[in-house]
Amino acid sequence: MNLPRLFNRKTFPHGIHPPQYKEETRDKPTRRLAFPDQVILPLLQNIGAPAIAMVRKGQMVERGELIAVAAPDKLSVPLHATVEGTIRDITLMSTAMGPKTRSIIIDTLPSSPQIPVSGKRQDYRQMSRAEIIAAIRDIGMVGLGGAEFPTYAKLATSLDYDIHTVIANGCECEPFITTDFRVMLENIKNLLLGMRIVMKAVAADKGIIAIEDNKLEVQAALQPHLPEDGSISVEVLQTKYPQGAEQMLIYALLGVAIPKGQLPATLGLEIINVATVAEIGALLPNSQGFIERTVTITGDDLEKPGNYRIPIGTSLQHILGETGFTGAEAELILGGPMMGQPVAFLDTPIHKGTGAVLVLDQRAAKNRDVYPCIKCAMCVEVCPIHLNPSTLGLLAYKHRYQEMQDQYHLNNCFECGSCSFVCPSNIPLVQLFRVAKAMNRERKVQ
Ligand code: SF4
Ligand code: SF4
Repeated sequence: MNLPRLFNRKTFPHGIHPPQYKEETRDKPTRRLAFPDQVILPLLQNIGAPAIAMVRKGQMVERGELIAVAAPDKLSVPLHATVEGTIRDITLMSTAMGPKTRSIIIDTLPSSPQIPVSGKRQDYRQMSRAEIIAAIRDIGMVGLGGAEFPTYAKLATSLDYDIHTVIANGCECEPFITTDFRVMLENIKNLLLGMRIVMKAVAADKGIIAIEDNKLEVQAALQPHLPEDGSISVEVLQTKYPQGAEQMLIYALLGVAIPKGQLPATLGLEIINVATVAEIGALLPNSQGFIERTVTITGDDLEKPGNYRIPIGTSLQHILGETGFTGAEAELILGGPMMGQPVAFLDTPIHKGTGAVLVLDQRAAKNRDVYPCIKCAMCVEVCPIHLNPSTLGLLAYKHRYQEMQDQYHLNNCFECGSCSFVCPSNIPLVQLFRVAKAMNRERKVQ
């Protein structure tokens, strides 16, 4: 019996309860991974425009030094050197963002202690809202929950709304991943400072750290440090997937739905991932660039699964070598099994939004025969936004992509994968929906 469920905790309608698979990593303290010999830093690691390189081949750079500036007048963030070393090249590389992404390659200086450089000291209490938002842009911060939306731009939209509450999203509902869990347990000071900074940036007087009831240790650890005035609190929700999605989280916490096509800001809410908040708390006071993050390394055939601090730009090859991968064939996913991104090449570097590297035995992954739809409606039961995945799937097989969009709200699907997960016929519903969306996009361009 799951005792927390007896307390009837808040949640959203529908959704699924996939196996957690978090036990391999959740109770291990975060360690630092050995520095790689080289990092590959794509200039585009955010939604929007790529940064513009301002270094040249052969130049020595310090760890944390600014190496690319944000594209002017565009949605863009700067990039900092994640190791001390020498610029080997600035060239097109295969990355998780695509086969040809312009990237800065840095050879690591072997003798370096790799201490990050600091900028000017700044106290958020003495800064205006606009100054805080600009400082968050200058440290190169993007949404670390995977979205990689520039954080400064997200916070800047609040200037047009009356925001009353910041919700730090610590649900981490995907199986396997424990990054946010470890960050919340191990970085309480930075998390709470980050909350105050973000609350001031959007002029909110209330902050909520939202977790699921599989992370009750976080509530116990945070409780003694919360401000006495009650301005920051911890809310515990039922463990359910996909509760980390913004609309599900808001419904679970407040029982309200975001009006269609509108932002959480219209309800006076600012939603931000907890790891993003903790990094802002750690970096902004010393004007340091965002250069490394906590990443869950987990899955099959790993001798040392766990959470590691890893410089952005480190290759999967280095990560698997350092964590003792012993398998032969593996499927590699950046992120979790539900919404993560499969990658084909071992030299792919992790980027700012990479919260996990999941290694799955490819033999098990291949062993899934697909059968016809038996109209069991389980996919309809679980879809958190009340779509009809069964009908959408049948239309996708008939290539009736436009009809999927016009009559069955295909574009509302946020690809959570819940329908694919429960389908007894193993129909790859979410993959079919991705193809359908891509085909519709292509047709629109032609
Ligand atoms: S992938 Fe799309 S259709 Fe399937 S459950 Fe999630 S939101 Fe619904
Ligand atoms: S869960 Fe699978 S088999 Fe059942 S109705 Fe949906 S698509 Fe068909």
